[in-house]
Amino acid sequence: VKYFEISPLICEKTAIFPGDQSFERKIALDFKAGQHLLLSSISTTLHIGAHADSSSHYHKNGQGIDKREIKPYLGLCQVIHLALKGREQIQISHLKNTEILAPRVVFATNTFPDPNKWQDDFASFSPEVLNWLADQNVILVGIDTPSVDPSDSKSLDAHQVLFNRNLCVLEGLVLSHVPAGVYTLIALPLLIAGADASPVRAILIDGQI
Ligand SMILES: [Zn+2]
Repeated sequence: VKYFEISPLICEKTAIFPGDQSFERKIALDFKAGQHLLLSSISTTLHIGAHADSSSHYHKNGQGIDKREIKPYLGLCQVIHLALKGREQIQISHLKNTEILAPRVVFATNTFPDPNKWQDDFASFSPEVLNWLADQNVILVGIDTPSVDPSDSKSLDAHQVLFNRNLCVLEGLVLSHVPAGVYTLIALPLLIAGADASPVRAILIDGQI
């Protein structure tokens, strides 16, 4: 059995959308200060590292992350590698030689290679390809960039397809080290009441656990 870590380390340096709340960890008690415990708290955007957006993030009639089903975040998942340039959108034509083999599909685009370095020119999804995937009974999509839409998009067309087709989503994955194929995904969001997103510990398992 092989385990692939597909979430980046979360730390102060983790890249976030410009203007969003970066990750901070505050130490309240510390052995180094002669205290009897290490105790800390964090403040952060929920869109940090590998994370699941909930539909309330991108639609006024969406639901909080605590209301989403478990099933999309756990189970068979296909990894697909695409050779894309920055700002390119994944199109149906990129997948004409690829068979969709699982109800969860995550895309390695390699257009956001360093989770600690923000860049605007990452790849994203065309609305058409998300509809095409939903037509093939896909229930979750994922990408190794901070967003399913281009960084400067205001209409958020790909996010709107997520809402209309009830697709779940993982953003901020790290996939360059995972060969194409079908795995078991575990990427459960936390039950944060009413929240627009949650960080996840995302892993892919090759083999029977
Ligand atoms: Zn997000």
